[in-house]
Amino acid sequence: MKAWVLYGINDLRYGTVAEPELKEGEVLVAVKAAAVCGSDIPRIYRTGAYSYPLVPGHEFAGIVEKAGPGVADGWLGKRTGIFPLVPCGVCGPCQSRRYEMCRDYGYLGSRQDGGFAEYAAVPVRNLIELPAGVTLQEAAMLEPMAVAVHAMRRARPMAGDRVVVCGLGTIGMLLVSFLLEAGIRDVLVIGNKEFQRQAILKTGLEETCYCDSRAGDTEKWLMERTEGKGADVFFECVGINGTFSQAVNLTGPVGRVCLVGNPGSDMTLEREVYWKILRNQLTVTGTWNSSFTHEADDDWH
Ligand SMILES: [Zn+2]
Ligand SMILES: [Zn+2]
Repeated sequence: MKAWVLYGINDLRYGTVAEPELKEGEVLVAVKAAAVCGSDIPRIYRTGAYSYPLVPGHEFAGIVEKAGPGVADGWLGKRTGIFPLVPCGVCGPCQSRRYEMCRDYGYLGSRQDGGFAEYAAVPVRNLIELPAGVTLQEAAMLEPMAVAVHAMRRARPMAGDRVVVCGLGTIGMLLVSFLLEAGIRDVLVIGNKEFQRQAILKTGLEETCYCDSRAGDTEKWLMERTEGKGADVFFECVGINGTFSQAVNLTGPVGRVCLVGNPGSDMTLEREVYWKILRNQLTVTGTWNSSFTHEADDDWH
């Protein structure tokens, strides 16, 4: 089969490799669509993977073409989305079905071969059958969508809350869409690129709800927009010190700060900013990956 294979840092090659051999409980998925995650770029070009050679790609969808040992034939021909995390099944978080916190997990596209290939071996329990109305291209985005849903559920914004999303990468953009769809009307967003502004306008948000952080004083803008009260819920989707401090500074009394962005460096807070967490009795929440349990209330269904 044809595949993109990573042989080392900054050594990604397109070529012919053997089709994956199916282990117990796996199916062969013919990959029909795959997306490039923001994390694929450093993984491929700067930081590297856990082992080589590796087929990257953890955001993909396809059609089940072969059932491996121990898998019923019922999946054959089914269109499927894919949860890329392969949990160990025995650790504490796995026992309570919080697989996103598994202590010893595999991961398609970073710890084992993923979706930048014609075929991928996927554990059958990681499949999610696609409803008729969902295209395979759309389904390749299920993973980042579920990550955004997970972040939203961690912070639990209510209908009347003033919600800020800072950082408009894929997850930030999806968060804005889901917040609006969930009926949160008071959404303010902070970006720093022209295409982000245009994408935000397409969601139906007013131009006045968007702040370009390059243009001026973001803190002043947000305080004016909130009559000095700050946010009830602040999603930090960047992962740098400046926006981390901003998130704390711009969240009002008993507000929630949800840390979404992967850190680009050490994260520190000045003492004055740290005080605000205490004095404003803020809840600072982390979010990681997404929940996938096959139940209707997980982040994928
Ligand atoms: Zn990703
Ligand atoms: Zn586990």
